[in-house]
Parts: sequence; structure tokens; C-alpha cells
Amino acid sequence: MSAAAKVIRPEIQAMHAYPVADATGLVKLDLMESPYGLPPELAAEVGQVVSKLSLNRYPVPTALRLRALIREVMQVPAGCDVLLGNGSDECIQYITASAAREGAVVMAPAPSFAMFSMHALFYRLRFVGVPLREDFSLDTDAFLAAMAKEQPALVWIAYPNNPTGNAFPVADIERILRAAPGLVVLDEAYQPFAGGTFMPRLAEFENLVVMRTVSKIGMAGLRLGYACGRPEWIDAFNKTRSPFNINVLTEAVAFTLLQNKKVLDEQSARVLAERERLRPLLERLPGITLYPSVANFFLARVHGPAGSGTRVFEALRAQGVLVRNFDGGPPALANCLRLSIGTPEENRILVAVLSEALK
Ligand code: PMP
Repeated sequence: MSAAAKVIRPEIQAMHAYPVADATGLVKLDLMESPYGLPPELAAEVGQVVSKLSLNRYPVPTALRLRALIREVMQVPAGCDVLLGNGSDECIQYITASAAREGAVVMAPAPSFAMFSMHALFYRLRFVGVPLREDFSLDTDAFLAAMAKEQPALVWIAYPNNPTGNAFPVADIERILRAAPGLVVLDEAYQPFAGGTFMPRLAEFENLVVMRTVSKIGMAGLRLGYACGRPEWIDAFNKTRSPFNINVLTEAVAFTLLQNKKVLDEQSARVLAERERLRPLLERLPGITLYPSVANFFLARVHGPAGSGTRVFEALRAQGVLVRNFDGGPPALANCLRLSIGTPEENRILVAVLSEALK
């Protein structure tokens, strides 16, 4: 047995790291990034801002002015506080760490975002995934029954859900919030494309935290996510935070860009319009089932025997288009591919290449 094998926890040895494919030279439709860069004037302003930073100094750990700006532009209700993470991935880590009592259970619909269960594993918590129905709608009665049985300390609901793209009905989420014995985090990563939000309702539910990210609205490279809720939650999460987690570049650039949020909002509106334009074109393709989406991506299931999804994924990649392949992962996602919305030109290429691959 190697030295590492003696030390590393068996469950860590058994797992795979979060997969991120090499996208060099490919049309990149795998990670739901914004396909748009910054307009030149704004890029120049960012350059100016960055040139004036003191990179020799640690960041201000509280990131006060960035948090104040987030409160303002994201309409965080008065009385609520904001946790900043190096991506919302890191918020998931801090929230899980804070709730990681001995024997605590973490629950989420399945399939959903992989990091919910991964962090549960890292903190030795039992993860219970409650299966969605075959059409990926939420079986709310089953979810409530699972909560009653397992008494989860922490429930994650991605609203809209990744990788399925649908948003569960508001009334069902309200039922879950009322019945949950612990904390419910609504992960609103895709909210900019869906509209609906529980942010204004934070005061109504003592057990609600709303998590967001700037990754999908043009700042994935910065790594900035945030979680909003009552100070009793946010203060606790902050205790687990590494003190300088938001670096000076991220703080300053995010501050500059959020002051110009109108530019980012216009880009998101273009992505949304592209989603609506793309939908019928994809629906028309023979050989796939396209699932309803209110996010900046579509989930599609390739018809055919096991492995058909992977075959189409490889054919797309060979033609220069990278999407996300879920085939070979959880059985509920057999033959499924996730297609991020790109620019009109990227989407044109996607449709052309996909229709060829499906022949
Ligand atoms: N939540 C959901 C539902 C996601 O899909 C993602 C990214 N794929 C994240 C959180 C993490 O985003 P980030 O770390 O870039 O903020």
C-alpha cells in the first residue's frame, strides 16, 4: 500500500474530482458561462482599476464595499447579511462545514448540482438525493416524506435546477420551506435567466438562505458567489471562511463590473433571447428529447441504446463543439447532454453539428 493510500480517506480515493474538460480551440458550451466578453471601454476601465491595486497587501477580509454594492444591486432585503465565497462552490463548502454536526443529513433533489453531495462527503455527512420524476419535475410529496424520515439539517434546492434546467413550482418550494426541520438553501445560480427569486422573501422564512453567483452573468473567471440570509446564519458561515478568500483582483473587478451591471444585464438578456430562438430549432431535431429550460442551457436526451449520448458528445467534439456529457453518470441522466447557450453564431454551429451527429 502506498503512503498516500494509507492516509487518504477511502471515500476520497474512490471518488472522481469534479470533471472539467479541455476546451482549447472548441466552441465552449459546457459550463454555462456568458459567451460575451466585456465591451472595450469597460475592459479598459477594469485595466485602470487593476493597475492601481496594492497586490503586496492582503485583501480587506470583510470586503465591505463589495458586500454593500451586492446588497444594493441584487436587492438583498434590509436586515440580511451577505457571505462571499470564491465562487458559490465555496459558499456550499462553508455552509456544509457550519452544519456538519455528527450524523447530520444533507438532502437535495437528484439529479442536481454535484457539489451539494461532494461537500457532504468531504464533511462526513450522509447525503440523501430524492429522485426527481422521469420528466425531472419535483415529486414534492416524496420530498416531504423523505424530509420527515431523514430530518435533514441542510436541504439544497437549485432554483432553477442544474442540470435539468427547470425551476420547481413556487408553491412546492414553500411547502418544503415550511416543513423543513433545518436550513433550506435555494441556489439561484440561474436566476438571471429565470426571473423568479426568493430573495425578497428572506424575512418570511427563518430557515431560508438564498445563494447566488456572478459566474453566469459574465464573471465566471473572477470566482465570486454569495449567500444571503439572516445574520444568525451568515455570522456562523463566516466563522468557517478562510479570512482572505476574496482576493484583491476579484474584489476590485467585481466592484467595477457590478457598478456597470446594466452591461451585464443586457448580455444576459441576449442569452435569454437566444434560448428562445434556439428552443424550436433543437426541438425540431429528430433523435433527441429536449427538456423545458428557464436557465441559460438545455438538457437533451439522445434517443438510442446506452452510449448513444457519448457517441453524439464525441461527434460534436470532433466537429469543434464542447458540451457537457452526463451519459455514463447517474442512470437518470443516461444519454443526456447539457448544451449551454452561446452567441448566435455559436448556436448556429451547434445546431448544424448536432443535426449531423444525430443522423
Ligand atoms: N450552483 C449551481 C446550481 C451551479 O450550477 C453552479 C455552477 N455550475 C454553481 C452553484 C457554482 O458556481 P460558481 O462556483 O461558479 O459560483
